[in-house]
Amino acid sequence: MKSVICPVCGARVMLGFGAKEGDIVTCQKCGARLRLISDGSGFRAAAA
Ligand SMILES: [Zn+2]
Repeated sequence: MKSVICPVCGARVMLGFGAKEGDIVTCQKCGARLRLISDGSGFRAAAA
């Protein structure tokens, strides 16, 4: 399963299979709202 690292707290945030660029996900640890950015092979996350 794909995941990204929360830029706020460093926790790993799991992504669903349908994740796509621009999606907003919520960090389960700190509650930050993160926007997915495609980086070629996967995603990274930026604070939304
Ligand atoms: Zn976090």
